[in-house]
Amino acid sequence: MKLHLKNCRYIDMRSMTVRSGDICTDNGVFSYVGESAPHGEYDRVIEMNGDLVIPGFCNAHTHSPMVFLRSFAEDLPLDRWLSEAVFPSEAKLTPEDNYIFTKLAVCEYVSNGITSCFDMYFYPEAMAEAFAETGFRCTFCGAMNNFSQSPEMLEDCYIKLNSFNPLISYKLGFHAEYTTSLDLMKAVSQLAHKYKAPVWCHNSETKSEVEDCISRYGMTPTGIMDSIGMFDFGGGGYHCIYLSDEDMDIFSRRGLTAVTNPCSNLKLASGIADLTRLKEKGIRLAVGTDGAASNNALDMFREMYLCSVLQKLKYSDASAMPAADVLYAAIVGGSEAMGIDSGFIEVGRNADFAVIDMKAPNMRPENDIVKNLVFSGSGANVLMTAVNGRILYEKGEYFIGEDIDSLYRKAEKICERIFSDK
Ligand SMILES: [Zn+2]
Repeated sequence: MKLHLKNCRYIDMRSMTVRSGDICTDNGVFSYVGESAPHGEYDRVIEMNGDLVIPGFCNAHTHSPMVFLRSFAEDLPLDRWLSEAVFPSEAKLTPEDNYIFTKLAVCEYVSNGITSCFDMYFYPEAMAEAFAETGFRCTFCGAMNNFSQSPEMLEDCYIKLNSFNPLISYKLGFHAEYTTSLDLMKAVSQLAHKYKAPVWCHNSETKSEVEDCISRYGMTPTGIMDSIGMFDFGGGGYHCIYLSDEDMDIFSRRGLTAVTNPCSNLKLASGIADLTRLKEKGIRLAVGTDGAASNNALDMFREMYLCSVLQKLKYSDASAMPAADVLYAAIVGGSEAMGIDSGFIEVGRNADFAVIDMKAPNMRPENDIVKNLVFSGSGANVLMTAVNGRILYEKGEYFIGEDIDSLYRKAEKICERIFSDK
């Protein structure tokens, strides 16, 4: 697919400035970025009239099939929500269910300008089929814990899914310290050394998680994991709310990424990650939505807004966490965490992008377009989303290889089955 986006504006993520010109794609990558594209044969020439092209958002932590739990059993305390709603319902999911819900999540991602996700859930092979068929880019993270999956399955997925489809990759990972025994964590660390690979997991999401870990091992989750060589080849953590100064030093020393999930952290009353301190320590930041069960939207605009305003509140300082830093984390930080070559609109990189409607009232006046994106932008401003040079969403229509209404029907039917036979 050769696209020619004519007369657009686009964000240079290195300087955080807005430029004007043409953008072309060929064979899944950007083939021209500059003032005026050379004449040539294109499958489609689109007059952009000054609308804004941004590299797509990289949702750096999610559990895509959890859309099935959206708005189910809300407003319960965390322990009751997990034990009474989440776990019994998840136990009824089949690989085919996850395949359908993954496709539903993809529709939501692309409608919000998201072009890739870093996903942790079970039945990754069925999910990989769904991602590949829709044309969406996904990096998986292993989801092993004491109750499901095993180091052998992790290694099997690592080998299979890293050569399954160019849109799909797989990182070693496990659910979290509090759900995974020391022996299993050591097995993951061994795999990390065998493949010289980074490792990812939920880390320090709640205060009690950290306190329990200290009483178990005399160390924080980051401390115990680092002590067994878990991060010798990098990686990172999801949430990272209750990191100590020593934990942050480990993150810094090992080049780990902290992925923040502010919507989920607020809704589950977990806390506010100290992005300001992480940034001061030079730690790479990325942004994720977490699953729809605890968010409930898969919308990076909301996450970006909260990333910034929560730091302002936390530090009683309206200058904390500026918009440009948040936008960088939501796009480049996520792309680097996932190990994909997206995040910049530059020749040769993945043509993963979204088009923002600059004629919408909430984007005017154009005093500062980056600040407009972070503080007043919304998914409603997304006109088009393309992954690997293929348009998956355009003005309310989905081009994911399946009719959206039939997808909705299938999803509703599965929910009826799961939630009826208690
Ligand atoms: Zn999560």
